[in-house]
Amino acid sequence: AAELDAIEKDCLVRVAVRIRPQNSREIIDMCRICTTVTPGEQHIVIGSDKAFTFDYVYDVDSNQCDIYTECVERLVEGTLRGYNATVLAYGQTGSGKTYTMGTGFDNASGDYQLGIIPRAIRHIFAGIERMQMKENEEVSVTKSQFSVAVQFIELYNEDIIDLLNPFNKHSAFKIHESANGQISVAGATIKPISESQEALKLLQEGALARTTASTKMNDLSSRSHAVFTLFVRRQHLIEPQNDFTDNDFETLTSKFHFVDLAGSERLKRTLATGERAREGISINCGLLALGNCISALGDKSKRVSHVPYRDSKLTRLLQDSLGGNSQTLMIACISPSDRDFMETLNTLKYANRAR
Ligand code: ADP
Ligand code: MG
Repeated sequence: AAELDAIEKDCLVRVAVRIRPQNSREIIDMCRICTTVTPGEQHIVIGSDKAFTFDYVYDVDSNQCDIYTECVERLVEGTLRGYNATVLAYGQTGSGKTYTMGTGFDNASGDYQLGIIPRAIRHIFAGIERMQMKENEEVSVTKSQFSVAVQFIELYNEDIIDLLNPFNKHSAFKIHESANGQISVAGATIKPISESQEALKLLQEGALARTTASTKMNDLSSRSHAVFTLFVRRQHLIEPQNDFTDNDFETLTSKFHFVDLAGSERLKRTLATGERAREGISINCGLLALGNCISALGDKSKRVSHVPYRDSKLTRLLQDSLGGNSQTLMIACISPSDRDFMETLNTLKYANRAR
């Protein structure tokens, strides 16, 4: 296990690319597909000659289940062992971030459609049950106590909205760093949950609460970052080392952030002006800072030096869950159609910096 940990530490940031299928509009407009993936290889070529290599590449026919089991499952296992993790979905509006992440979770959607968050929720509770069953079989082992809690917030224009209590506008949410480097959002609701159904309900309610005011091109939710967080705490008794010490509890706390990032499209395409333009700039500031942090973490020569977490609220919030003992997966979501070529190229370049 130590060896496995060492290997995993060697690779703090993984990058996946997912190409969504063409939508009916693109099919009617006879858009060409400008992406090429060779099955079994982690290459993607866009246009005729722009090639990129990532840790995982998913073509238009990929399914939700494969992405979960191949990229996310092991991070969830890590959460049960006390490690933090972060999964981020990056890409232009309409590229499949919310679909992939499951941030728009709807109880009515079929099981095969379920995104990453509902799968992770189920997995966490199944994992806890499995560990407790195993402990119950071994009489000598001390039993673990698990507690799970959920937070769901939205970062908009460098402001924080509590999606689990959207009318809670009175508290000034502050990102707080404790003496041991733990980050928390002061004032934001953290709801303890005892079964997966409860967490799924909160996910659904929060998704509904995500604001829906619209601009010419996209709704508000595409200009904000949605961050769903699972907290897992495991307490277990440590046998006394000798007759003179009392029993002691060891507590392992971990968190798993699921981030549905703001659309990465450039400001000029939203035709936004005034207030809207300012929003656009601050969103890009978060995405820019995130890119810089992830690139600093991925670069072994730079890892010892400065990671610029303080440059945005987004990176401040994720600070204790990017790098260190944490595993990060960035999923770059792209459109296959030639009309999105420039945005897709920008997304692939951004994702490529993380490697
Ligand atoms: P974003 O959150 O990046 O703006 P969405 O996740 O809302 O994009 O996706 C845009 C539309 O495309 C939605 O209707 C979604 O259901 C659909 N979609 C995205 N990815 C896929 C996919 N892999 N398979 C089928 N439909 C998809
Ligand atoms: Mg979305």
